[in-house]
Amino acid sequence: MKPFDFCPSCATGLEVSEDGEGKTCPHCRRSWYPNSSPTAGCVIVANGRALVTERAKDPEKGKFDVPGGFLKAGEDVLDGLRREVKEELGVEIDVTFDDFVQAIPHEYGDEGDFVLAMGFRARMTSGQPEAADDVEALRWVSLDELDDVPFAWEHDRVLVRRGLEEA
Ligand SMILES: [Zn+2]
Repeated sequence: MKPFDFCPSCATGLEVSEDGEGKTCPHCRRSWYPNSSPTAGCVIVANGRALVTERAKDPEKGKFDVPGGFLKAGEDVLDGLRREVKEELGVEIDVTFDDFVQAIPHEYGDEGDFVLAMGFRARMTSGQPEAADDVEALRWVSLDELDDVPFAWEHDRVLVRRGLEEA
């Protein structure tokens, strides 16, 4: 996010921190530093096709990404991924750290927010996927169709390609 100008706690004007990388409140002495927010997403492949999701909300509304989302503070990465997939698609997945594919930092929206997007392979274990929550629609894509999918972020295309090639 854009750096705060005023202390969120006491509303005193913030100063640049001593190391120059963050902001410090001269009253509370608390400091804030810009960080990437971690997300976890997954490629799910069945019958030679991968599941991609159309975004229902901005940023990048109407473009595609993969099932997943932001982790809560202190949340286990795989628990967070399972929770997000359940919320978005209504299905359970099997995923372990052996399924880890990539971790890509990227700008999210146009407010200066940064995300660290972790990508995994995952397998559906129960349920029939249906779009819910911040997913507008689902699409199953083959390797041949992958280049034509309007992904919000290119690293998701890379993740989906890896999933399809290794399936
Ligand atoms: Zn303060």
